[in-house]
Amino acid sequence: MRVLLVEDDPMIGNVVQQELRDASYAVDWVCDGQAALTSIATGLGYSLVLLDLGLPKTDGMDVLRAIRQAKNDVPVLVLTARDATEDRVAGLDSGADDYLVKPFAMSELLARMRALTRRKEQAVGPNLSNGIVTLDPATHEAQVGDVEVRLTAREFSLLQSLLLRPGAILSRSELENRLYGWNEEVESNAVEFLIHSLRKKLGADVIKNVRGVGWMVSKGR
Ligand code: CA
Repeated sequence: MRVLLVEDDPMIGNVVQQELRDASYAVDWVCDGQAALTSIATGLGYSLVLLDLGLPKTDGMDVLRAIRQAKNDVPVLVLTARDATEDRVAGLDSGADDYLVKPFAMSELLARMRALTRRKEQAVGPNLSNGIVTLDPATHEAQVGDVEVRLTAREFSLLQSLLLRPGAILSRSELENRLYGWNEEVESNAVEFLIHSLRKKLGADVIKNVRGVGWMVSKGR
């Protein structure tokens, strides 16, 4: 899952970027409002935007308004040092989906991100499932039948991408977009490697290959 982090404080940005990567998100980090708008306009399809409000060039609130004016419904979680009620109200009224006041605990940020993603996908419970394989976004555990397996960060990311839309085929480049941020090097056969190790852990039938097109998980039983 690919997220855009908009934060001009290098210390906070570094920590959040690293923690998000450890939690298996692909992260693109930008430091001003202008770069945020440019990144969103590239159409990489972010699953979530983490937006600081006090930003150089274009203020976070203006970034938020521009996103919504463009009819982009990407979930936006505002990270703000501004604790004033009117700022939070203005943020929510301008189209933010949630906010966190700095300093915040990383565990709370991650939980709120999972909740927002769930809402966006209109999922009922916390787990993703196609009726064959079930994935717990909080623990990164997958379950097939009675077998529970722990996945690596990338394996989790890949399976999550497929399980968000069972029956839809994702190409290699679509998967790479969801798995890797800008400055992460992608080995040419990284996706095949991950598919291979997932099949080993979960069984060969769980992920289907559509030759020349990509991969999918079935819509389930
Ligand atoms: Ca700031």
